Amino acid sequence: MTKSIVSLKAFSKFAVNKKNFSAMTTPSTSVLIIYTGGTIGMTQNPETGALEPFDFNHLLDNVPELSRLGYKISTVQFDPIIDSSETEPSQWAKIVRVIAENYNKYDGFVVLHGTDTMAYTASAVSFMLENLGKPVIFTGSQLPIGMLRTDGKENLITAIEIAADRNENGTPIVPEVCIFFDNSLMRGNRTCKVSAQFFNAFVSPNYPLLAHVGININYDDVEIHYPDKDMPLIPHYEMDNNVVVLKLFPGINRHVVHQALNIPGLKGVVLESFGSGNAPRYDWFLEELRDAVQRGLVIVNVTQCSTGSVQMELYRAGNTLRDIGVISGYDSTTEAALAKLMYLFGLGLSSEQVKEAMRHSYVGEITLPKC
Ligand code: ASP
Repeated sequence: MTKSIVSLKAFSKFAVNKKNFSAMTTPSTSVLIIYTGGTIGMTQNPETGALEPFDFNHLLDNVPELSRLGYKISTVQFDPIIDSSETEPSQWAKIVRVIAENYNKYDGFVVLHGTDTMAYTASAVSFMLENLGKPVIFTGSQLPIGMLRTDGKENLITAIEIAADRNENGTPIVPEVCIFFDNSLMRGNRTCKVSAQFFNAFVSPNYPLLAHVGININYDDVEIHYPDKDMPLIPHYEMDNNVVVLKLFPGINRHVVHQALNIPGLKGVVLESFGSGNAPRYDWFLEELRDAVQRGLVIVNVTQCSTGSVQMELYRAGNTLRDIGVISGYDSTTEAALAKLMYLFGLGLSSEQVKEAMRHSYVGEITLPKC
C-alpha cells in the first residue's frame, strides 16, 4: 500500500487493497485500475440468484489475460464498493482524489463503475479534473465478468489498452475522461445510458466517437481534445448539489413546478424542455420561471429529445424562455448540464458567474453555435 493511498484512506475512509501485478520484466507503461463497484465485479448468489458484489481480486482471477498486455497494472478497490445507483458527489471526489494522488505515477487510468450512473460520473469527473493530460477511461459491463457471455472482459481489456496507448512522440492518444463500452470510445460528458439490456448500452448523441474498435483501435484525433501541456492538473473536490432536474410533460401543473423551483437552498435547474427548447407559454408557468430567475436561480434549458440542440430563437415558445432569462444548454446531455452546474456552484461562483460560465465549453461538453 503506498503512502498516498494510506493518507487517502485516513482522509476519506476508502481505498484499500492496492495490488500490483505485471508479467513484464521491464514494463514501460503503467495503468491504474480503480474499481468502484457495479456489475462488472459481481457474482451470482447461487441461492437467491441475485447479483452481489465480490472482492476485486476475484475480477483479476477472471481475467488472466491482463498479465499478457505487458503493462504495469495496479488496482485500487473502493471500500465499500457500491451499486452506482448510490453514487453521490463524494464518490466522484474519491475518484478524483485517487487520480490526483497517483497522477505522476501512471500513464493512464481505468475506472470500473456501474453502468447505471456512469454517464453522470464521467461528466462530473471531466469537470473536476481541470487540465487533465492523461487518459481516464470509464468502463463496466452489462454481465458480470465471471459469466460466460460477459461483455466485461472485452470492455476492460480494451479500456486498459486505450489508457495506455501513446502517440509516436510518447504523448497519450486520448488525454480525456471517456467511456469505453461495446467497441465505442466516447467523450464521457457526451454520453447517456440508453439500454438496460443490450451490450451497446451507451451513446454519444451529439458528438462523434473518439475511437471505433474492431480489429484495430481507430482513433479520430480530429475529435479528441488535447490540453495545453504546460498546465498542471488541478483537481476539484467540491460539487454543490443544490440543483434539480425538471422534466416538462403535457399536463404538468403549477403546484409541481412551483414546488420544484422553491426547494429551499436551490441554486440551479436543468429544465428538460420539448424539441429545440420549447415550453408552454401559460401565464402561470412563465410567472413561476420569471420569479425563479429573479431570485437568482440558474435555469438551463436542455432538450428531452435524444439528439439535437436547444435553439431558443427558433419558436416563440423558446423565445419567451430566453427573454425571461432561461439560458441555453445547447446540445448538452442532462447529465453533463447537471454536473456542470454542480461544479460551477461548487467553485463558489455567483449565479451571474455561473450563467456566464454555462455559455462556454470547458471540456468539450457542448457544441457552441457558429456565430
Ligand atoms: N446496478 C449496476 C450499477 O450501476 C448496473 C451495472 O453496473 O451495469 O452499479
